[in-house]
Amino acid sequence: MKIYEQRDKHKRTTYCPTCGNDGHMWMTCPVPAKMMELKKQGKEPDISLFSHWYQNSYSKRGNDGRLIYHDSIFRTMENAYARQHRRIEARKEKKDRLEKLGVKPRKRKTSCGFCGDTGHNRRNCEVMHNFIDDLGRASQNYRKLFYERFVQGMGFAEGALLALSANHWRATGKWHEDWSGIGIVTAISWDQVNMGLTLGDWDYKSTLEIDVLVDGHSYTIENPWNALVEQDTIDGKKGKIAELFVEGSSWGSRIDSILAPSENIPTEEWFNDGYTECWEWIAKNKNLYEVSSRLTPLIAKFHPSRRGRNAGKLKKRLAQYGYNTK
Ligand SMILES: [Zn+2]
Ligand SMILES: [Zn+2]
Repeated sequence: MKIYEQRDKHKRTTYCPTCGNDGHMWMTCPVPAKMMELKKQGKEPDISLFSHWYQNSYSKRGNDGRLIYHDSIFRTMENAYARQHRRIEARKEKKDRLEKLGVKPRKRKTSCGFCGDTGHNRRNCEVMHNFIDDLGRASQNYRKLFYERFVQGMGFAEGALLALSANHWRATGKWHEDWSGIGIVTAISWDQVNMGLTLGDWDYKSTLEIDVLVDGHSYTIENPWNALVEQDTIDGKKGKIAELFVEGSSWGSRIDSILAPSENIPTEEWFNDGYTECWEWIAKNKNLYEVSSRLTPLIAKFHPSRRGRNAGKLKKRLAQYGYNTK
């Protein structure tokens, strides 16, 4: 799923505007106090206390060897120092005032970052533990179904011969309209096989990349499921293959059929483990409210207990997760 695969891209770091370094905010920046000390001693500002980015401009020296911004650095730091102290004073004053009025500092009620209930946190949130477990099991079952129906059932693996088509296909430097051709599968990003392949949502969908050899040239096609889904959907009801995929944009390339199955399909054991860390990451970094509408239908659709004697229990858990049966 995209939110998991691209998790590092969204990491945001906060920088201290005073010194340019990360790890603290302006209120607790140690640089102004150090600079004030240097000024008192009659020394020049210590440029190394700033981030590299700030140093680029602050370290410039004139012909006389003096820092060009010598005075303005000290002035800026003096202002920052004063600002920090005004803040500390203001906090103290507020505290004193409330104390005089007899107001006791309110104890913050802890609430769970995942489910929002009070009295526990993520670490001992039963709903979260169940949610991760259910997603993991649904995902493993999805991989199992993918394997049985598509890999073993239709022979989709490296070496398979595919009938391909595309509205637009770029080959040998130019675009071909209404293209069709034959390709041999040379590589599949197997570790991406997960329930996200059934989602069209930008943040939650997963992308399977398939390398194919067409006329001696190598291409990478992504989620080429449209034709397969269409062929296996009757009166809006998805069949066993269509159920595994979401219909993508009609713009991309399509697998029209598998002309010859692979003779070299991966073993089931090898295939069954995989894509396991995503669910825990999502539960720890998102809250139930954000992810419920996207992920609970996947549990309902692919969990191995959706039928059989544990179906009632699963239904109860799904209700806890906010699954909407409508
Ligand atoms: Zn700082
Ligand atoms: Zn909770």
